[in-house]
Amino acid sequence: MTIEVLGAKLSKHGKANLKAGEVALVGAGPGDAELLTIRALRFIQQAEVVVFDRLVSDEILSMLPQDAEQFYVGKKRSKHSVSQEDINQLLVDQAKLGKRVLRLKGGDPFIFGRGGEEAEYVLKRGVSCHICPGITAASGCTTYAGIPLTHRGVAQGCTFITGNMQDDGQLNLPWQSLTASSQTVVFYMGIITLPLIVKELIRHGRAASTPAALIYKGTQPEQEVFRGQLDTLEQLITEHNIKPPTLIVIGDVINQLTEHQLSRPGFLRADEYVANQ
Ligand code: SAH
Repeated sequence: MTIEVLGAKLSKHGKANLKAGEVALVGAGPGDAELLTIRALRFIQQAEVVVFDRLVSDEILSMLPQDAEQFYVGKKRSKHSVSQEDINQLLVDQAKLGKRVLRLKGGDPFIFGRGGEEAEYVLKRGVSCHICPGITAASGCTTYAGIPLTHRGVAQGCTFITGNMQDDGQLNLPWQSLTASSQTVVFYMGIITLPLIVKELIRHGRAASTPAALIYKGTQPEQEVFRGQLDTLEQLITEHNIKPPTLIVIGDVINQLTEHQLSRPGFLRADEYVANQ
């Protein structure tokens, strides 16, 4: 089925119908436009006003309707260009002007994306809201880096957790629950607090030699994957001057496919594969 045929079928049967005065809260995924859901693409095509984050990739921004009005509300750590309250209010104001409002967020809106707060805010003010998931960074970036988050006999589970400091400057996390060797742990927003994360995990019993990886701008043309172990992560960051957005992945799964050479993100070459013992 061509994409045009699929599009025609969806416009007949599809449920993504953004009406005047409504908001669509949509996950844009980790960057590669091919990872958008069809539902997300349909909302993008219907938007009159777009409110988007720093994490939405240029490739996806280039797909916005030419005549859509764009509001950039990107936030940087400790330098909020637009406050969350102002973003919430902007969505309501634009919807009340009778616009079809697209709220486009990196990854999934409901995973470390404050999507729940935004939905609550607009609903309370009488604005209806479509919600559309996106591929979250933990899933998209690890897959494109050739890292399976779970693997039979290696990792039975996986935890997504934030490394962002709480308002009081503390990082209070359930460290003990992150130490099982059969569990993969993915830290979002952890680059700044990485030294503390490493220290606490080791102090609570996770082996210092646990394989670990850093994925910078996963799924995007600039994607870089750095592999090491828990106690070498800090060194990797300094050596390579790694900045956000970067994902930290900890667990034995890191090396499961290590002999595959990724010739490009999301592609594993069979001719360079040597089975991992
Ligand atoms: N809602 C988003 C997460 C927002 S929190 C989601 O579901 O993916 C922001 C953090 O996500 C970043 O600090 C980084 O740790 C991670 N992140 C998001 N996109 C990323 C990408 N393309 N590559 C690496 N990390 C990414």
